[in-house]
Amino acid sequence: MRRVRLYDSLHREVRLFQPRFPPRVGMFVCGVTTYDDAHIGHGRFAVVFDVLARALRRWGYRVFYVQNVTNLDDKVIARAGETGDDPLERSARYFRAWREQMDALNVRSVDHYPFATDYLPEIVDQIRDLERAGFAYRAEDGSVYYEVARFPPYGQLSGQNVQALRPGARVELDRRKRSPEDFVLWKAATPGEPSWESPWGPGRPGWHIEDTAITGRLLGPQYDIHGGGIDLIFPHHEAEIAQAEGASGKSPLVEYWLHNGLVQMNGEKMSKSLGNVASLEAAIATAGAMPLRLYYLNAHYRSPLDFQPEASLREARESYERLRGPFARVTASLASASAGSELPDALAQHANSVVEQMDDLLADDLRSREALALLFQWARTVNELGELSGYSALALESLAAPFRWAEVTLGLFADVAGADAGALDAAVRVAIDARSRARARGDYGEADRIRDELARAEIHLEDGPSGTRWTYRPSSSDGS
Ligand SMILES: [Zn+2]
Repeated sequence: MRRVRLYDSLHREVRLFQPRFPPRVGMFVCGVTTYDDAHIGHGRFAVVFDVLARALRRWGYRVFYVQNVTNLDDKVIARAGETGDDPLERSARYFRAWREQMDALNVRSVDHYPFATDYLPEIVDQIRDLERAGFAYRAEDGSVYYEVARFPPYGQLSGQNVQALRPGARVELDRRKRSPEDFVLWKAATPGEPSWESPWGPGRPGWHIEDTAITGRLLGPQYDIHGGGIDLIFPHHEAEIAQAEGASGKSPLVEYWLHNGLVQMNGEKMSKSLGNVASLEAAIATAGAMPLRLYYLNAHYRSPLDFQPEASLREARESYERLRGPFARVTASLASASAGSELPDALAQHANSVVEQMDDLLADDLRSREALALLFQWARTVNELGELSGYSALALESLAAPFRWAEVTLGLFADVAGADAGALDAAVRVAIDARSRARARGDYGEADRIRDELARAEIHLEDGPSGTRWTYRPSSSDGS
């Protein structure tokens, strides 16, 4: 396994990555709250952590990647109330849209998308553990709060002394709390809102508790990587540490805290309340999903990323075309390549060293921008070769290697025909032809056997008037 270094927000330094139980890696990333359209800031965290999971897998780690879905919270309920929707139906609709956008962006590394409301038993259990351990108290209205003063490490992740902040802070007075920084674990039911029975009466979970109830169940009391946008450090991730470590008595909850920078418009965080939000769906429609993916990766993941509605997407399209064009020419030549000349040794070796350098850069706290700079250089090298049809298949594979690295690791080029999909199509076509011949000679047993074999490989056939179509539908990738 490759030596990987990652910046950890808790220790505030780049650290050598050592999972608890190598090669296994447990990874959790805060997902979306499904109350409205996703904006392009959401696309960034999704792509960044997709690349991290892809890269770790490429280097031999066995990553289990969980991304939660906040399908019920104040925002979902408020927005559903304004529009007359059922809150959970509204959430399901926006989650479907999110998955479609993820498919378009080629975000395929998430193993499981747990819904908060599917973890009510775990949430209740964790709050009871916190009560028993003396971290939680019940308010008069039946809500349950976390008593922050009982957990001294609170504030370490965000680097603030919470008590010191208190006197000057403008905090809303909430008489149910013992201290302003206490946060809600269980909200007493409000009439007309979805609620669940609990030992404290009917209510619903607070926002922070869903993450730690889900990770406790799926990843255990301690795991390797927690990711999310930098705006989630306080109070959300601080609260997660307090909850999980308070409930389990084990520390640390997470070995590596990773945070991506935000997408900004005119120097400000993109947010609905500021009215400077660019919809993810619209950006995909305007620029194309692959150029948008390149836009996200052509910056270091911890830096803020400036977004200028027209210029950023136009530049992304142009940049992407500079990579896609040469790769598409190489794969097109490969499809018909037979005998031909080899590459000069120096150039073939250079292709290998580009791949090696890109791996090194990504393993050094995900330096995707520098890796892409090497790929842009390689694209120019390929262009300088001119006509490619005279090269052997081996030579063309060498030329393709750096692009294929980006295809697998950065998730680019999902739109390049004749990449991996082309090879798969050719193989499936051979099987489909054999099945057609079996049917033509009346050997239906053989025809069915071929169809069943393909189905076991998750490849499904559909016979139609213009021939047989196939689709690849892996059942395990559908985590919802
Ligand atoms: Zn979260």
